Amino acid sequence: MNNRYSRQILFPEIKRDGQRKLLSSKILLVGCGALGAAHAETLARAGVRNIRIVDRDFVEFSNLQRQSLFSETDASMRLPKAIAAKNRLLEINSEIKVEAIVTDVNYSNIENLIKDCDLILDGTDNFQTRFLLNDACVKHSKTWIYGAAVSSYGVTMTIIPQKSPCLRCIFEEIPDAGSSPTCDTAGVIQPIISIVSAVQTTEAIKILIGKKESLHQSLMQIDVWQNDWRKIKLGAPNADCKTCGQRNFEFLEAENVEFSAVLCGRDAVQISPPAQTNLDLPALAQKLETLGAVKQNEYLLRLKYDEFELTVFRDARMIVRGTDDVSVARSIYARLIGN
Ligand SMILES: [Zn+2]
Repeated sequence: MNNRYSRQILFPEIKRDGQRKLLSSKILLVGCGALGAAHAETLARAGVRNIRIVDRDFVEFSNLQRQSLFSETDASMRLPKAIAAKNRLLEINSEIKVEAIVTDVNYSNIENLIKDCDLILDGTDNFQTRFLLNDACVKHSKTWIYGAAVSSYGVTMTIIPQKSPCLRCIFEEIPDAGSSPTCDTAGVIQPIISIVSAVQTTEAIKILIGKKESLHQSLMQIDVWQNDWRKIKLGAPNADCKTCGQRNFEFLEAENVEFSAVLCGRDAVQISPPAQTNLDLPALAQKLETLGAVKQNEYLLRLKYDEFELTVFRDARMIVRGTDDVSVARSIYARLIGN
């Protein structure tokens, strides 16, 4: 071991033995926006050996105010966040391994993504994905760390299946779409990202080195603007919980094999194909050139189409910006990509 980790080894709760454990750990980061980028940087610097990052988006200029791994160059190049994160992390620590996966996390891939990992961190921005993650982690007895931040407010909880309440013990159903604020509607300031991610990554280090007695064991809520920091003590898991009590993993079931469409942010819809696909992007770009100028990199292509701005990823997802009407987006997808 060189002296890269010397200050961390001096910390009496970690020492040489804890550092060795970090250097043999594997984690999954689900989502690499503001929280995910902070998880990635802290844990890469700490020496977590294997980091798998999965994210579906590309870097935009509006991300740079809080998504600390990314640069103006990443935004200009429209790099996928997972790829931009990997590039930056390997500059920070070339002794670790980073696996970047550019895709949408859903019922068809989540179990594969988590199964060889010691721990999963939540850096997503929606309840649909968190409920899916909760089902998969409870089913496979994987510890995961929930985290969310919007405006100046954040929340986090560490979930050890069967030992502590799961996400569904606390929130029985997904809140209705549009009922809770998002970063696109309420904004967000960077300091709350730092605080929530700091609590999450400290919990991650405790878990990876086997110091579970030091976990905060609460639903922690923080408002950095209101100077309010509270911990709601967690009891036992709820015996009636659909996920960890009844082991009914409904979010892992493929209830439809249709193209799925989700609103992502304001004025944008994402269309995903029903199965994993790999598009030939250069061929598609050539085809779409007849409609307007196509800009592309290795991972995605973009073009203006009528009043819409389209982004097509290699896994055949399309983000249609300029509408919040799912049927409009689906019809553009059918016209340009096909069924
Ligand atoms: Zn539960």
